[in-house]
This record gives sequence, C-alpha cells and structure tokens, in this order.
Amino acid sequence: TRNREKRFGMVVELISVGTELLLGNIVNTNAAYLAEKCAGLGLSCYYQTVVGDNSGRLAGTIRTALERADLVILTGGLGPTQDDLTKETAAGVWNRQLAMDPHSLERIETYFRERGLEMTENNKKQALVPEGAIVVDNDNGTAPGIIMEKEGKRMILLPGPPNELKPMFENSIAPFLTGLENPDAPGIIFSKTVKICGMGESKVESQITDLEALANPTVAPYAKTGEVHLRVTARAEDEKEAKKLVKPVVKELKSRFGSAVYTTEEDVTLEKAVVDLLLANELTVSTIESCTGGMLAARLINIPGVSEVFKTGYITYSNKAKRKIAGVKKGTLDKFGAVSPQTAKEMARGTALLTKADVTFSITGIAGPDGGTAEKPVGLIYMGCYVCGTTHVKEFHFSGNRAKIRETAVSAALTMMRQCILEYYSQKTFGKKV
Ligand code: ATP
Repeated sequence: TRNREKRFGMVVELISVGTELLLGNIVNTNAAYLAEKCAGLGLSCYYQTVVGDNSGRLAGTIRTALERADLVILTGGLGPTQDDLTKETAAGVWNRQLAMDPHSLERIETYFRERGLEMTENNKKQALVPEGAIVVDNDNGTAPGIIMEKEGKRMILLPGPPNELKPMFENSIAPFLTGLENPDAPGIIFSKTVKICGMGESKVESQITDLEALANPTVAPYAKTGEVHLRVTARAEDEKEAKKLVKPVVKELKSRFGSAVYTTEEDVTLEKAVVDLLLANELTVSTIESCTGGMLAARLINIPGVSEVFKTGYITYSNKAKRKIAGVKKGTLDKFGAVSPQTAKEMARGTALLTKADVTFSITGIAGPDGGTAEKPVGLIYMGCYVCGTTHVKEFHFSGNRAKIRETAVSAALTMMRQCILEYYSQKTFGKKV
C-alpha cells in the first residue's frame, strides 16, 4: 500500500449515489470494483462517498470532490425515474444544459424493440446528455455513460447495475483513462498481474520488498481469499515500451515464486487454472465435500468446458452419508471422528473407487461457530487428494466466521488439488528419466 499512493499524477474520487446504499439495502460493490480498477490503472484515490438520491446533497458532494480530485467517478442514479438525478445534478454543477442525443435515443429504442418491451416516455430521459459531453454506449442496459470535462477536471457518470457498469468500465472507461493526456507523465499505462496461490500476503511481500521500491514499473500486492495478486504497472510512451518495462519484472516474480504462480493472465482464475490443468492432462475429477457443502464443485463447474473432466460431486454431511456413499469405515469414524485425516483419506479413496475419476478431492472440517473443542477447534479442516492411485492428506487451520472459513477452505482445496497434480507429474517425469 505504501507505494501505491504517490506514483502517477491523477487523483480520482468515487461517489456512489443511491438511498438504497445509505440504508444498507444493497452493498456498495461498485465502489470496491472501481477502487481496485483505478488503483490498477495507477490513479490515486483518497476519498469515496455514498450519498442518497437528493439533489442538494449530491451537488454539494460533487463540488467537494471536484476541489480535491482531477477526476470524479459517479455511479447510480442514471435511471429513467424521478429519483434518478445524477445526470441532472452533475450537469447543473457545471451549468450545462441537457440535450437529446439522437444516437443514444436510437440505441434505447432498439434495446426495447429487440426485447419486445414497450418503451415508456420516461425512458427517453435516459438519452438526454449534458452539452459537450462524451457519450459512452451501454451494451447491457439503457442508460449511457457520460464523460464531462471542464478546465482539466473530469466527471464520469456510470450506470448503477454492476452488470452494466463493469463491461462499460472495462471496455470504454479504462482505455479512455489510460489514453488521457497527463502532463506529469505522458503516455500509456500497461500492467500485468502475477497470481500466486498457497502463500500468505506477508510471506509474499517479504520476498518482494526490493521490487516494491521500484518506481517504474511499480509492483503492488493485492490480497485475495487464499491468493495474492502482484500487479506490475508501467508507464511509458507507448504500449511496446511499457511491455518492455513490465516483462523482466514479471519474469523475476515467476522465478521467485515458482510453481506457486498459477497464471499471469488477466481472465484466468484459480479454478480455471485447475480445470485447464485437468484438461491438459486428460484427468477426470470428482469431489466429496462435508463442511463446504458443494462449494468446491460449484467453483469448478463455474468454468465452461469443465464437463470434459468433471464427473461427480457428493455432499456427505452426516456420518451416515460418509459411510454409505464414500464407504468410510464405521471404525474410522468411531475411533478418529468425522474430522480427521483418516476420514478425509477414506472419503477421497472411496470416491475414486466409486466414480473411477483420476483425481478425487475430499473436505471435512469444522466451520463453526459451534462444534469446536480444544482438541478440534473451529476452523480445523482436513482435505484429501487422490491422484491416480496416491492419496495426500493435509491439515488446515482457518479463521473467521462460518462463511469465511468455508470460502477460504475452497481456495485452499483448489490450491492443494493443483499442487498434488503438479507433484504427480513431476515425479512421473522424474521416474521416467531414471
Ligand atoms: P437503472 O438505469 O437500472 O435505473 P441507475 O444508474 O439509475 O440504473 P440505480 O437506480 O442507482 O442505478 O441502481 C440500480 C441498481 O443497481 C440497484 O438497485 C442496485 O441493484 C445496483 N446498484 C446501484 N448502485 C450500486 C452500487 N454502488 N453497488 C452495487 N450495486 C449497485
């Protein structure tokens, strides 16, 4: 964090508009999304504000933000109804009139026609834009985005629904910001993310203190559940130059973190990396879960194309189910309990026998808040991973509430599955050589 602040010239401020946000009816995920994206672009953000659907208070908030920042991004309140007043208010702050934008009107008409919906009069309001504004098409809804500029300051107005906001930011706003002329540091910003699994943030950070001191490119860590992402960002005259700056640092990070780096691709998630690994090696997989209740299977099944490799996912919550489905021995459960390395191992092996999958994965543990003992505390989880005849078992201790423990466990499971498969192949190759 310390070196994320001062790098590049532009200061951005975020304003989320909506009484629903103030009342806590919805969670402000847009602010989190935009904050992370802006940081990734090398912008500095010092304030975020939430304000209700009230014109006077919104105007005040905008004025304050414009005093502190070069760029103010507003989300929400671009809808067709009376209480949607972001556009009107933002235009008012700069004394701009609203005028009908024929291009946006046509897009909105097409949007309704294609969906067989009737367009009401107030939908036309969404095609009104402030004079002199840049209009940004909305491919997933009706309200266009708006970019306004005055004396070197900018306001960007974006729709509230995340499924409209995110593609618009990704496809139009980010490139716009990247291409903005910035007198402090001309050129473009290019970044690449090195994604690491199976290591905590502090451990990762302790190995990159020298790289964190770099000015161009910068290296900034972002902690995710069970993962750490290192974002390498360079500023240069053009993309080729920026890529040249980023490349050796990414290479260095890959060599420092070795197989813990699961990808450097923007759109590859941990579960995608695991599914790709299974696909590349033509390995089928089955899962058997207790305390995570199918979340591991769900994350794998998130990935299109997984049907090539995914066989079966069991949820065996009760002891009886563990016995009946996976064939865990009664003696094992009686002697060691459901949360034990022995049970995890039998669950994984039983599932391999039953489903004939090349890889099987078991999770059994105590997600809390009740059920912990001194010997087996809340957060204790055992996982088993069977790969082509060999079963590994690992003990984990996670902290947090029930949801957090389960979520972290699933990330750890994906990491362990990946490690076990990689290890299997490295040994196999080694064996062949001998
Ligand atoms: P629309 O054109 O659909 O009316 P809008 O730009 O007017 O969009 P709002 O009416 O403010 O946006 O919000 C519409 C919906 O978008 C909300 O009900 C909520 O589901 C979602 N939303 C709005 N703001 C946020 C936010 N800051 N974080 C997450 N979701 C949001």
